[in-house]
Amino acid sequence: MALHAELHRHLGGSVVPRILWRYLHRQDAPLARDYPDYADFEDYYTRPRKTLDEYLELHSLVESVQTLETLPYFICRLLRGAYVFEDLAYLEIRYTPYLRTDPSLAEADRLRQMHQIIEVVAEATRQTDYPIVTSQILCLHSRLPERVNRAIVEAAASHASVCAIDLAGGDKAYRDRMPEWVELYKSALARGLKTTAHLYETPDGCYPELLPYVSRIGHGIQIPLLQPELLPALAKRNQCLEICPTTYLKTGTLSTLEPLKQVFDRCFDAGVDIAICTDNAGLHNVRLPFEYENLLTLDIIDFSQLQQCQSAAFRHAFAWPHSKSPAEALRDGSVSLAASR
Ligand SMILES: [Zn+2]
Repeated sequence: MALHAELHRHLGGSVVPRILWRYLHRQDAPLARDYPDYADFEDYYTRPRKTLDEYLELHSLVESVQTLETLPYFICRLLRGAYVFEDLAYLEIRYTPYLRTDPSLAEADRLRQMHQIIEVVAEATRQTDYPIVTSQILCLHSRLPERVNRAIVEAAASHASVCAIDLAGGDKAYRDRMPEWVELYKSALARGLKTTAHLYETPDGCYPELLPYVSRIGHGIQIPLLQPELLPALAKRNQCLEICPTTYLKTGTLSTLEPLKQVFDRCFDAGVDIAICTDNAGLHNVRLPFEYENLLTLDIIDFSQLQQCQSAAFRHAFAWPHSKSPAEALRDGSVSLAASR
């Protein structure tokens, strides 16, 4: 039975290294010639980077191969892996649609093509072989101009398959444009969209101005670590943190996962919910159940706290259609596992 909800996964970072390596070889791409052996490619693709910016450069490698034509191929492989190996019942998949459009087109044509991209993603997630309830989150990007980000908000509002917007691209780069982000977030909320944003991921990404406008917080680990006085306000606004443990090691934000103990403890004490997520399960080569297992093995959380986080993921999901998670329905007896002849 599919059991888990994943709230923070990038379409680009969801491609596991073997799928990408095979794809590059079939296309005879230049990178395939650089990496004739899979093991070398896996090492290059998954090794930790020194900074968040360096890590984000890898996303552009995958973005360049995820086009209108190839997206169904990658999404099919993402969903079947998520269903078979991760027991996902629910998935929110996020990406910047403008960065999947044909870069040889004029900007106005790329803005039009974004709608096609959103439709293609929606269509590809509607398959029934690996039934996962899936919704899209569109990422605004700190390196795109305001008019493009505004068009992304408008595109999000005009497609039912999109539940929310996000802000990505490196949290250091938001600083000089904060009034613009606040304005875009207000406009998304006014259009009935939910919101999340990569915030408080690194010490450079602390922007309290944006907090009142996000339904959830992408990462947010620096709040309990550096500004725990903000936690009561988060609890009051019922904002959930999307914590993606492996990311902090791959981006150089943390050198070990040990500080996450303080993150979880302070959030539990303050009544702030946490959903455990992967961020980039493919790029990290770490699937959701292994994120859970790592936190348990390192004694950062116990099993009862894990259950609380798993329930929180369904409660804070933007498009999960039920009041209970599959595991809760099993626990309270509204779904039975008892087999009979
Ligand atoms: Zn992310």
